[in-house]
Amino acid sequence: MTEKTIFKRIIDGEIPANVVFEDDQCLAFHDVNPQAPTHVLVIPKKEIASLEAVADEDIPLIGHLHRVLRDLARQLDLGDGYRVVVNCGASGGQTVDHLHFHLLGGRPLGWPPG
Ligand code: 5GP
Repeated sequence: MTEKTIFKRIIDGEIPANVVFEDDQCLAFHDVNPQAPTHVLVIPKKEIASLEAVADEDIPLIGHLHRVLRDLARQLDLGDGYRVVVNCGASGGQTVDHLHFHLLGGRPLGWPPG
């Protein structure tokens, strides 16, 4: 049996998280190491290792996650602008092998990213 990722353990309630939103398809919680005044992670409850592993059947789920991201940005007062980031693979900076969307805001965000 493969080991659970840290995010699967959060979904299963084995590790605490500061949850800001949850429904049957996803969970959103504050990042433990925030890179901006607001840094929330939105993750599907379905175990998908990365963006690369998204299947065609997951497209409605990915759309749902984006609606949640939009609504959270409004709820968290990010009206000035915000950024949604998906790190994919080792060179893309992905450290947790469970698909997640970073929602970052609350300060001006530079470009290009590192
Ligand atoms: P990645 O580098 O894979 O794109 O992003 C993983 C993110 O998960 C990082 O920003 C990291 O701070 C966050 N993270 C890792 N472990 C935990 C944890 O146990 N709890 C929370 N809330 N965030 C975590």
